[in-house]
Amino acid sequence: MFKTAKRPLGPQEVLDRGRKAVPNMSLATVYRNLAMLLDDGLIARVELPGQPPLYEPADLDHHHHFHCEVCGKTYDFEGCPGDLARFAPAGFETRRHELTLFGRCAACAAAKRR
Ligand SMILES: [Zn+2]
Ligand SMILES: [Zn+2]
Repeated sequence: MFKTAKRPLGPQEVLDRGRKAVPNMSLATVYRNLAMLLDDGLIARVELPGQPPLYEPADLDHHHHFHCEVCGKTYDFEGCPGDLARFAPAGFETRRHELTLFGRCAACAAAKRR
């Protein structure tokens, strides 16, 4: 499910997709399974400022996210500005970075123009 989505999913989106196969699936089941997959290191949590956690496969290459403020979906994008550590204050050692773009996804941007 997480592999085919190609973007991080929230628990409700996981439930919506899961119910296509198991119509009576509950949100509690989703949370239980997310906890197990996290424990097993198969999925990773994606934390965006002011958003409930999302989940994506743990083995993805380094990538960043675009959050649509209209539909609320979060998308992956490839590419990275690279050496962001150069912006750290002198003497600071950067270990990692996260980067999120906010705006409208293509579908929402097209809907607005109509
Ligand atoms: Zn959107
Ligand atoms: Zn990066």
